[in-house]
Amino acid sequence: MKYDRVYNFSAGPSMLPLSVLEKAAAEMMNYRGSGMSITEMSHRSKAYDAVICDAVDRVKRVLAVPAGYSVLFLQGGASAQFAMVPMNLMTGSGSADYVVTGQFSGKAYKEAKKYGTANLAATSEPANFTYIPAQEELKLSPGADYVHICFNNTIYGSKWNYVPDTGSVPLVADMSSCIMSEPVDVSRFGVIYAGAQKNLAPAGVTLVIVRDDLMGRAMPNIPAVFDYATQAKNNSMYNTPPCFGIYMIGLVLEYLENEGGLEEMRVRNEAKAKLLYDAIDASRLFSNPVRHDCRSVMNVTFVTGSDELDAKFCREAAEAGLVSVKGHRSVGGMRASIYNAMPREGVEALVAFMEKFEKENA
Ligand SMILES: *Cc1c(COP(=O)(O)O)cnc(C)c1O
Repeated sequence: MKYDRVYNFSAGPSMLPLSVLEKAAAEMMNYRGSGMSITEMSHRSKAYDAVICDAVDRVKRVLAVPAGYSVLFLQGGASAQFAMVPMNLMTGSGSADYVVTGQFSGKAYKEAKKYGTANLAATSEPANFTYIPAQEELKLSPGADYVHICFNNTIYGSKWNYVPDTGSVPLVADMSSCIMSEPVDVSRFGVIYAGAQKNLAPAGVTLVIVRDDLMGRAMPNIPAVFDYATQAKNNSMYNTPPCFGIYMIGLVLEYLENEGGLEEMRVRNEAKAKLLYDAIDASRLFSNPVRHDCRSVMNVTFVTGSDELDAKFCREAAEAGLVSVKGHRSVGGMRASIYNAMPREGVEALVAFMEKFEKENA
């Protein structure tokens, strides 16, 4: 590959489109005639104002965000949102419903308990997080301030294949590992948040999309930088924003628009995932435990059943230029993260390697 790059299956930080990296590199020394790098520029400058406004506009356009929502670029990762969501929203009845379908939604649930009553509306933990509960299984409380879900489970490799109906209770979704991978009906959500380092940009910026009527009800002792309303009023510049990351989101979304937008991403991503799942299902060595209708399109997990063989697979794959296929440290096995920037050729190379490995280790 160009520049001697590898196929990087890391769950995050993860691959970015090569053309985006090239553009960022070309603009690094002198950003569009400003005589300075984007990383050296005042966030209060006219040039930077254009960058952040362009990024907001592109998020709205690419994701078809309806009127009545604000787009924020915050810091602290998705993990900060685990606390910011309750601090901003858990102020009516002081309770919220959490659906726990993996490690990150579990962390969000735990964090929320510090701020009020977090109800466990459903969990797939007894089944090792191998499925997403159906609508009928959700024990939703009518008076909840919101319902929280994690739309794609990065570690266990599962995804919601439906948007739960929460009635008039706002739905909050962690979309860190699936944002911009396919179209979503934003109007079904009160808050969507996503750490950038999976499918959007480098680490350090978190995209938060908030329905405007959900702002201005934060806990009185909330730190100002954590208050959605304060950040929205200041166009995400109450304090110095993650300038470079926001610029990179703009470049990535420009790339997505040039490539045909989220409908096209959905087609490509589903085709890549099918290639890999078909190979796993046809294999006698590899298997994937996730219920078929809940399988993630972004994070594909698989195991051989032997820890030694798994380790050997990861080692030899890396030698073949297929890096970071090791599963999350909490679950082991393998995980191939195949976000937007992973070309189909990378998945084909992985599948070919799996077939070769299976023959050699039968
Ligand atoms: C990676 C990830 C997180 C954690 O993100 P940080 O930026 O490290 O806080 C949370 N939720 C999901 C779904 C993730 O994939």
